[in-house]
Amino acid sequence: MKTPLLLDGVEVSNRIKADLAKRVTALNEKGITPSLATILVGEDPSSATYVRMKGNACHKLGMESKKIEMPTETTTEELLATIQQLNEDHTVHGILLQHPVPEQIDERAAFDAIAIEKDVDGVTTLGFAQNAFNFAQYPSCTPAAIMAILDHYDLPIEGKHAVVVGRSPILGKPVSMMLLNRNATVTICHSRTSELEAHVKQADIVVAAVGRPEFIKGEWIKPGAVVLDAGYNKGNVGDCDYDGCAANASAITPVPGGVGPVTISMLLKHTVDAAERLNP
Ligand code: NAP
Repeated sequence: MKTPLLLDGVEVSNRIKADLAKRVTALNEKGITPSLATILVGEDPSSATYVRMKGNACHKLGMESKKIEMPTETTTEELLATIQQLNEDHTVHGILLQHPVPEQIDERAAFDAIAIEKDVDGVTTLGFAQNAFNFAQYPSCTPAAIMAILDHYDLPIEGKHAVVVGRSPILGKPVSMMLLNRNATVTICHSRTSELEAHVKQADIVVAAVGRPEFIKGEWIKPGAVVLDAGYNKGNVGDCDYDGCAANASAITPVPGGVGPVTISMLLKHTVDAAERLNP
């Protein structure tokens, strides 16, 4: 059994951050500090942790993070008003609304209230459409991370059969569009797909975006396939059975240390991109 190439997200992330550090310094010299506003509604502990991690990552790079915390009982109107203030705040370059938001809030309306030029997390309807048309400014960060990993390791995409398991608006769907835009032949699977295993078995590139621990089994992986596991489940496990999949794959992302760290770096990158574009 050949050991697969380990697609090391920490290495990819460090490379991205090294480049960003230079760009942040150049912006600082112009008197600009790239700033990401994060909005956390409610008290979900995992969401609070994610927001904290994103804020810390900003500070480490010399960027600013403006943390807005709103109570669980926040209404859609209150949230929209806060987003509007951030849209108009010239010191803020990127806006991230941590989701899920409490159920009384119209999440789609809230996402779509984010100004397109500050939509660094790729959550707006317009941002999704631009991404699908291949002229996106800022695709969703996890799909962007998956593409960055493929590119960092120079793994071919064109002409390959990519099978994406999951079709969420922030992950499965946009990454499918991005792979399609890079001339992969894409199959998108979801909870109503019949014969899922048969689809995955045909893949040259497998993207796991299911949200179920160790759901993709090793015997589903065609020998030599590239496996990208975006999943992050309780107990630090991904959506793929790592050992089983690694036995057949030619390259694979670990969990943790794969897609996750690159996702945060893409958020920072999009915020720096936005700061540069908003201050030409
Ligand atoms: P999601 O919104 O819950 O979507 C899950 C998708 O998987 C849905 O499209 C669903 O199909 C599909 N699915 C569920 N059960 C299935 C089954 N039995 N067979 C085939 N498809 C099935 O989740 P998400 O937000 O896309 O996240 C997916 C995973 O990525 C999670 O583990 C999450 O923690 C992780 N994630 C990681 C990062 C990161 O930075 N690494 C960021 C975001 C998410 P239907 O559409 O038919 O319901």
